[in-house]
This record gives sequence, C-alpha cells and structure tokens, in this order.
Amino acid sequence: MILEYDKLELASVLGTPLFRVNQIRRWIFSRKVFDFNLMTDLSREFRLKLIERFGSVFCGTELNHEISDDDLTEKLLIEWPDGESVESVLLRDMRDHRTACISTQVGCGMRCAFCASGMNGFVRNLTRGEILEQVLRLNALLSRGERLTHIVVMGIGEPLLNLEALLAALNEITSAEGLDLSVRRVTISTVGIPAGIIKLAEFVKSGGKGYKLAVSLHAPNDLIRSVIIPQNRVHNIREVLEAADKYFEQTGRRVTFEYTLIDGVNDRVEHADELVRLLTGKTAIVNVIPLNPVENLGFATPSKQVTEKFVNRLKLGRLKVKIRMRKGEKINAACGQLRQNSKRINKNL
Ligand code: SAH
Repeated sequence: MILEYDKLELASVLGTPLFRVNQIRRWIFSRKVFDFNLMTDLSREFRLKLIERFGSVFCGTELNHEISDDDLTEKLLIEWPDGESVESVLLRDMRDHRTACISTQVGCGMRCAFCASGMNGFVRNLTRGEILEQVLRLNALLSRGERLTHIVVMGIGEPLLNLEALLAALNEITSAEGLDLSVRRVTISTVGIPAGIIKLAEFVKSGGKGYKLAVSLHAPNDLIRSVIIPQNRVHNIREVLEAADKYFEQTGRRVTFEYTLIDGVNDRVEHADELVRLLTGKTAIVNVIPLNPVENLGFATPSKQVTEKFVNRLKLGRLKVKIRMRKGEKINAACGQLRQNSKRINKNL
C-alpha cells in the first residue's frame, strides 16, 4: 500500500525522482484524488506502474457510511484486505471544528468495563497506512470550504501500544506537504500506559512533535479505577500520574485527564473532592464525559443534576474543567461504541 511509505521510501521503492513523488502526494493530500488514473500530470506509463504496484491509494473498502440526522457527524466502517474492520468518525461542531476521530487497533486489549471497543478483545495493530487512510477518507467527506481542524486518537484501540505506526501517520498529517494540520490540534488519548507516556515524552524532548496527551483517569482512587479499568491493576494511578507529570515537564504541554461519569460508580461529590485532592498542584485539565451507555455492559449515565453537581464541585476545588458534549449517539459514533452494530447499511448515502 502506497501510504505505508514516506516520501523518501516511496522514491526509492518506485525508483523515481522526488519531484514525481511530490506530484503523487499532492494529488493524495491536497486534491483528495485516490485513483492513480486521475493523476493527470503523471505519464500514462507511470500511472499504470502505480496501479500495477498498488491498485489504488487506499487498501481498505468502505463497508458502511452513516450520517447523523443533523448532518454533523459521519461514521465510516472500513474493511482491510484481511477482512478486519475499524470505524472512524468525522465530527462537526458549531465552532467550525472538523474533527477526525481515528482508530489505532482492530479491537482493544484494555477491556475497560464501560467501553464497547474491548468487548471482543484485541485483534491486531493497524499499520501507519491504515491509520492515515482513515484520516484521508474522513477529510474527503468534507465539502468545499470545510477544512479538517482536529484529530483525536480516540477511536478503537490503545494508541500507545501502537506508537510507531501512529507517530508515522501523524507526521504525515501534520507536515506541510501532507495535510498540514497543526500539531497542537492532535490529541492522543491513552488508558494510561506509563512506559508509553514516557516514550512519547522522550520523543518530544528529542525534537519530535508535541501532540496533546489525554489520559483516561475515570476514577479518583485505585479501588474504583481497578474495577472499571483492568489495566489499573498493572499500572496504578500513582504510576500513571507520575508519567503524566513527566510528559508535562518534558514537553510543556498540559495533560488532559478524561473522566467518564458513570452512574453510581464514580459520580459522587466525595469522588469529586478526592479527584481535586489527587490533581491539585498539577497543570491539568479535567474533561468530564457523561457515559454513553453501551448495551449489555450494565452501566448508566448520571442525571444532568448529578453531572452538574460533580462539575461544580471540581470547579470549587479550582480544577480546570471541560464537559465533553455527546455527539453522534444516534449513529453509534459515540465514544466506545465503534465497530459494534456494524451492519452493511446505508452504503452510499
Ligand atoms: N484507548 C484510549 C482511547 C479510548 S476512547 C483510552 O483509553 O484513552 C477515548 C475515550 O473514551 C477514553 O477516555 C475512553 O475511556 C472513553 N470511553 C470509552 N467508552 C466510553 C463510553 N461508553 N462512554 C464514555 N466514554 C467512553
């Protein structure tokens, strides 16, 4: 697949000068053309060579494309040549943000109790090309005048367990000759793998791009966190927070802590107070996300009042808090629900 190669690799693989590689890349990244035959400034011979070698720019097949009633959210189900599939979501909001939410693995081995992605376990890592393809496909859904503004690596999978492929893909997305997206607008969300966070911090320190890091905390203590996030039994809150501190120290980038509010589990005022104690003194933002209930997992969303009370309590404790609005619920594009119920419907909406 052509997206597996960076510029220099591609020049060498094709035995062609760089300027020709740049021509191909302009078609792919700027003009959103993914059929080699339509790349009209390349010779017919060269186009045939590309088709023979790669087929098309994309290696996946779009199995399903759903659009929410308000046209703001679109979800793609992409099947890879080995029959595995992932979902990717385009989110539009009123602030003109156009956000691509992408997956990094087929399935997920973290098995968080409230999340649908891990229900069937981990299958395999996505390649850099497969990660990039998701973004290019979502970008191609935008109409004239719309521009992709943000990437959130919050789809299926644990990004820090597929860091190399992810960083290679993000590098294309944020390079001037690629999609030219601002590094500051790319967020990687992790369940909290300390070694992965430190690796990312070192990558930034040694000159790599400083993407935004979000850590899925979801609980103010190990007792609760271990129940909803099995990974906490391997690396507890203290280890995760230490790694997050390092990320901030080494990169200067403020870490976001995600806190999915789950009815009767982590939504009490005492939990808010405990969270304040845990995070006081850190340069951090708490992102409160009311649970998107997943069928058969047995968790529910707290009421609006409980949510407000919880958030106010955090604010009273002087934490910086944001509430993440729920988007894409009706088309199951909400967090943790990707790849479930993926039927072959609405194919060419
Ligand atoms: N593996 C990464 C990315 C997961 S998805 C991680 O753990 O961070 C992004 C966020 O959505 C995570 O914080 C995840 O815990 C949260 N999430 C998963 N399922 C959810 C659900 N049903 N409702 C609300 N948030 C959910």
